[in-house]
Amino acid sequence: MAGGAHGPKHLRALTEIVLDALEDAVPARGGPLPAGGPEAVAVSTRALCSPVLPEEGVGPEVALADVVRAVAEGAADPADPACVAHLHCPPLAVAVAADLAGAALNPSMDSWDQAPAAGVIEELTTAALARLVHPAAPEPDALITSGGTESNLVALLLAREGASPGALRVVTGANAHHSVHRAAWMLGLPAPVVVACRDGRIDPAALDRALTALAGAPLLVVATAGTTDEGRIDPLPEIAGIAARHGARLHVDAAYGGPLLFSEHLAPRLAGLERADTVTFDLHKLGWQPVAAGVLAVADAATLAPLALRTDYLNADDDTEAGLPDLLGRSIRTTRRPDALKMAVTFRALGRRGLGALVEHCVRTAHGFGRAVDDHPALRRRPGDIGISTVLFRPAAADALPGEQGDAVVAAVRRTLLAEGRAVLGRAVADDGDGPARLWLKATLLHPNAATADLLPLLDLVTTAADRAARGSSAAEGTGAPATERLSP
Ligand SMILES: *Cc1c(COP(=O)(O)O)cnc(C)c1O
Repeated sequence: MAGGAHGPKHLRALTEIVLDALEDAVPARGGPLPAGGPEAVAVSTRALCSPVLPEEGVGPEVALADVVRAVAEGAADPADPACVAHLHCPPLAVAVAADLAGAALNPSMDSWDQAPAAGVIEELTTAALARLVHPAAPEPDALITSGGTESNLVALLLAREGASPGALRVVTGANAHHSVHRAAWMLGLPAPVVVACRDGRIDPAALDRALTALAGAPLLVVATAGTTDEGRIDPLPEIAGIAARHGARLHVDAAYGGPLLFSEHLAPRLAGLERADTVTFDLHKLGWQPVAAGVLAVADAATLAPLALRTDYLNADDDTEAGLPDLLGRSIRTTRRPDALKMAVTFRALGRRGLGALVEHCVRTAHGFGRAVDDHPALRRRPGDIGISTVLFRPAAADALPGEQGDAVVAAVRRTLLAEGRAVLGRAVADDGDGPARLWLKATLLHPNAATADLLPLLDLVTTAADRAARGSSAAEGTGAPATERLSP
């Protein structure tokens, strides 16, 4: 056992094995992800981890050494500056260390008798986050969730429960995260009405027209502060004004952008967020927490009333009357990890200023990276501003080919670098200024201390891979064969 009087002693010995395996894996992997593509990773992982349920166990030392080695050597490691595909952050050591305590003590956040102090820590953490998002609200509150997907689901659920009479209509931008659509589907709501965007942001005039067309129905506007593909922030003050004029509730999905609030310098970019009824806010993106670390902030604690639930074994009326805090209504889940613990430790360790400085670092690095792309003769950045810390770009070699063939080169560059274990770049389809939509390489810069110089090797990796892919594409043209490449050699 990890807890109890002897827990720490056992854990210390086993943790040594884990840390050794993590340390050894970095040179063994030799890059941001393992080389060889899915088949090679599957072969080496199976070799170390099979059978996963043997008749007789191999013992904790061997099992830990083998499986941790496999997962670490085969990891896409966001702590490597060339791992920039997604909103996939390198977690801070302080947060991971706190998570170890959470795992060892294993409080479950659904009743006081499983989490006496952990419940208080969650309350302090959610109160601080609630105040950060809604500084002037009389009674703001926040819930801990498993991430943006759950936060968006609960936001739509609360809006549905608060809507009367008639079915809630959700109106969102073409830039919204897929989880908004999935939440409407899961909640039995009509499919969201999608309004057009300009430069990746909701067009306020289009939103106004959509709300006018739905007049009479209960309405929820869902805006985004930090789109997943481009880091774009919808014009929140205008959207809040339009929503208010139509009597619509407002939810802002700030899964990516929310942590800009930690920085005095960047927080003004989220002006208008405080006018939202509900706000999605992830700390496992900007925030550097190990998964999961989601938040749903609400302007008014009373909004959460529909989540209240009684069940005798967890929160009997007489227990609540006798003073045992009732935690069950703070989630749609029952058993729940103490995710607030790592957040609380991180907040106290760094302070708001320290966290803000890390966010600013990412934004600055993205601008430095963007300038390096602009200065590179064989690369082209997507026209327009850089959104938060996301840079979209493509090799000039792809531009030299007709539309689909050019896009195929961009896709091939990404897969080649993945298969070779050299870089983890993302992909995004986005307008080319006034031109048609194209496929871009995406660098989502969340590394809290990689410098721009650490990212520059990516540029030559891309141009070299692009030249090869473009040559392959012109060669294939003669034969009529598709310009694709195998991921696994
Ligand atoms: C990442 C993201 C989500 C989903 O959040 P998870 O934490 O992955 O569940 C929702 N919305 C936006 C804008 C995101 O970037």
